[in-house]
Formats: sequence, C-alpha cells, structure tokens
Amino acid sequence: MKVFADYHTHTRYSHGKGTIEDNVKAAIARGLTQIGITDHGPASYSLHRLGVKNPEKLLDIKAEINRLQRHYPQIEILAGVEANVISIDGTIDVPYKILQKLDKILVGLHLMIIPKSFSDGKRLIYDNIIRYKFHKHDREEIRYYNTLALLNALKRYPIDIITHPGYRLDIDTVELARACKKAKTALEINVSHGYLTEEFVKTAAKEGVKFVISSDAHRPEDVGRLSVGIDLVKRIGLPKEQVLNLQ
Ligand SMILES: [Zn+2]
Ligand SMILES: [Zn+2]
Repeated sequence: MKVFADYHTHTRYSHGKGTIEDNVKAAIARGLTQIGITDHGPASYSLHRLGVKNPEKLLDIKAEINRLQRHYPQIEILAGVEANVISIDGTIDVPYKILQKLDKILVGLHLMIIPKSFSDGKRLIYDNIIRYKFHKHDREEIRYYNTLALLNALKRYPIDIITHPGYRLDIDTVELARACKKAKTALEINVSHGYLTEEFVKTAAKEGVKFVISSDAHRPEDVGRLSVGIDLVKRIGLPKEQVLNLQ
C-alpha cells in the first residue's frame, strides 16, 4: 500500500510556512508523484491573514505553479484551494469563474471566517463555539445546519474533497457521506488535527464514499507525512480502492 499524492498543502500564500517550491521538493523527497497546493480561501484573510488576499491570488499561484512545473517533471503540481463555506446556503468564498481554472477544489468548514451574513455567522461561528459547548440539547440542531451547509455546497460546486469533516464543527457523517458519494466528492482522512476517529471513517465507508489521506501540511517538512492515515486505513481494513491516493 503506497501513497502517491498529497492533495492538501499550504504555503506562504495563506498561513503556511514554506514556498510552493519548498512543498514540491518535500513531496518529491517523499516519493510522491502528485501534490496539491491548496491555500485557504479569502474569507479568512482579514483574520490574521489565514487565507489568500483575494480570489485572484489563486490564479497567481497557478501561474507560479506553471513556471515551476517545467523544472520538476517528476511530479504533477496541482493548483487548488481550500475554500471556506461562508453561508448555510452553501456559498463558498471563491467565485465560479476562478474555480473553473483550478485543478483541485477542496472545501471545508472553518470557524475563522467572515460569513456571508449575520445569521450565517450566528449559525456557523457562534453556535459552534458557544452554543454547542454550553447547550447540549442544541447540538443536534447545530449539527443539522453544519451538515446542511456542506450538502448545499456539494450541490453548487464541483468539489473534489471535503476537508477534515467533523473537525471543530460537528456533522452528520452518514448524511455527508451519502451526499459525497452522489456528487463523486471524496472525504478527507486528515492526519493533521488529531481529531480523526476510526468510527468516523468506518461509518462513512459503509456508505461507499471515497476517501483521500492528506497531510494538511502548513510546513514543508509535513508534506506527504501520511503514515497516521495509512495506519488507520490498514487497521480498519478499508480497501485501497476506496482511497484515491493509494496504490
Ligand atoms: Zn482546513
Ligand atoms: Zn488546510
């Protein structure tokens, strides 16, 4: 069982530490043949510059990748984004005309965003940070709206991967896995945040959804560091055909 791609890595264009070239070199050193450069979308830029400055920056990244690609023929460098869901209606922070020019579209729920409206902010941020913690009887409702936001995003955009499902924003695993299977979108086995459970992967896998294992590296040295995810896949006996970056 060998992993050949890491589709989720960050650079200095958002809040990663390395350059695109640093990530590419790290990926080559780990024997990968594909790498995704997927910086955060702009809805988190004004919060500690977590994201790219504006959506057009993603095209600058793509241009830099095209230049670099000539020097590194042994690896395919994919231009992507980890976009933010900014509304319960599924709107993300990258317009369609930019998405169309990217190779990999990753979408995730994050708390550090500027929401589309006040009520979206209440649902996606306040409810998940404050209400979820102090009002246990409201958790089901919060989970419902978090899941709905992702299901709506899946209907609106051609999403390749949903990043870190369930991390800090609770979701209905079965509902999400079913919708992802239908949309041909993969769920991420994210090795970065330490929240991932076997239970989540097993429950989602039963619905027949595909997975990818990603580093979510914010430092070049973490690119392609995926053994935690590979071990999990082996432990639960997930067939490698169900994991898109394993061969
Ligand atoms: Zn993320
Ligand atoms: Zn990320």
